Amino acid sequence: MTETSIPQSLGDRRAIVIGGGITGLAAARVLADRGARVTLLERDPDATVATADEAFATWQRRGAPQVRHSHAFLGRLRSLLRDRYPDILDGLLAAGARELDMLERPPVTLPPMEYVPGDEDFVALGCRRTTFEWVIRQVISTNPNVELIPGVKVDGLTSAEPPRVDGVRYHGPEGERVVHADIVVDASGRGSRAPVWLQEIGCPPPEEEEKPSGVIYFTRYYRLREGAEEPPRSEHPSAADYNWIKYAIFPADENTFSITFAVPLAVPRLKILAEPAAFDAMVAAIPGIAPWADPERAEPIGDPQHPIQKMGGLINRKRAFVVEGQPLAPGFFPLGDAVYCTNPLYGRGCAQAFIHADLMGQSFDASGGDPVAAMIDLDRRAREAIEPFYRASVMADSDAVRKAEGRPARRLDNRIRAYFLEQGVLPGTRCDPVIYRAFLRMFNMFESPEKAFGSPEVILRTLLVLARGRRFRDKLKLPDPPDREQTIARCEQAAA
Ligand SMILES: Cc1cc2nc3c(=O)[nH]c(=O)nc-3n(C[C@H](O)[C@H](O)[C@H](O)COP(=O)(O)OP(=O)(O)OC[C@H]3O[C@@H](n4cnc5c(N)ncnc54)[C@H](O)[C@@H]3O)c2cc1C
Repeated sequence: MTETSIPQSLGDRRAIVIGGGITGLAAARVLADRGARVTLLERDPDATVATADEAFATWQRRGAPQVRHSHAFLGRLRSLLRDRYPDILDGLLAAGARELDMLERPPVTLPPMEYVPGDEDFVALGCRRTTFEWVIRQVISTNPNVELIPGVKVDGLTSAEPPRVDGVRYHGPEGERVVHADIVVDASGRGSRAPVWLQEIGCPPPEEEEKPSGVIYFTRYYRLREGAEEPPRSEHPSAADYNWIKYAIFPADENTFSITFAVPLAVPRLKILAEPAAFDAMVAAIPGIAPWADPERAEPIGDPQHPIQKMGGLINRKRAFVVEGQPLAPGFFPLGDAVYCTNPLYGRGCAQAFIHADLMGQSFDASGGDPVAAMIDLDRRAREAIEPFYRASVMADSDAVRKAEGRPARRLDNRIRAYFLEQGVLPGTRCDPVIYRAFLRMFNMFESPEKAFGSPEVILRTLLVLARGRRFRDKLKLPDPPDREQTIARCEQAAA
């Protein structure tokens, strides 16, 4: 979409965006494209760096502590950038982001796959989160409609009659300030204080549902040594779920990559992975990742004081700011993690953020710029486009917690679903291209799991996999994981 084809539905409007993370940057772009004059308020300092490596090494991002954890940027996000924000995709590729074609490395057990229309979307972006954000910031900062003010923290909202949000209070190096606007976007992320801010101005708080993800994240970054290449594909996958630990490798820009372990809270001994020696021992124990981190091939990079990044408190949460068809606070547009927060394991947060901001633009266009109608329209669009993935995260997490704790599913429908997925769909992704493509559509957020695995063709093919019996499915199994007790003991010994 070129700028001239975007309706100028917000010409002359003033907008404030709280938070300059992925959602805030996307929202600023969407509003500015429609003619709004946007002030973006971000509590962290600016990235005064010249390269992606410098951004990774030095940019202070206390407000978004996840930025030095592995980030996957799914096919849905890359397609959205390609189709509607090509300058951002170009900037990312110029900065070294890699296009990771998921059909280039299918499971070794699949028969050869011919490309079919739609396959071109199964391409994720591989780059460090600091690179991703730094590039988008550079693109947005050249937009004449956007003013980015770093180093200021929003403390609350202001309101006007008839009841609506008409600005924010913030403080920074120049003291306290109030700034007014027609549209206030809350893009302050998972720590958003929107419920408190709304109550302070006499509005009801949003309806909220929160579920724990049940995992803790441990991440370490590496760079391939000069001349070294990534290890060849093998029967050992680069991402897997052993129930007692999940792992993945994230190829990224500038010859970097990261390894992340997601550890169930039900296995507290694995918190030892915060110790570099224990982390290294776990890497060495898992054949799918050990060759990547071989010291001959790669060296660790990152903060020498905190070589292993650890993050807990990971939640699934959704908030409703439109209740019974009416916005709780007209003029106030919460987006991204402030509304839908999902377990990072599924890599959906940044795609959700961009989709949400893009939908806001569509809602303003559909409502001719009317903020109340746009808010109601956006709520409907987000419930259709984003909420199914929130529900999928909650369901998958509750299954994973149950398995990590060694509990069987209690309800019959859950037992049937688990059997269908584990004994049918999962082996199906390793022998049937149609089921594998359904998995890729789900993984890359083009379809919810219900839609991807619930189509008549995929159900039929999954039933065929089930009908072929256990011996057939056993041949498709991934190699056995390392022994849990021995591996954890080895990590503990290494740390000691
Ligand atoms: C460990 C981890 C790993 C993840 N991995 C992935 C992944 O692989 N793929 C993926 O797509 N997503 C991933 N995510 C999710 C992703 O990071 C978030 O979904 C995404 O950052 C949401 O963007 P946001 O802008 O809404 O929030 P954030 O990126 O958190 O940004 C919020 C911004 O608001 C600023 N801010 C906060 N309060 C204020 C205030 N009062 N005033 C001014 N500024 C304020 C903060 O400084 C920050 O810059 C991961 C998350 C975690 C925790």
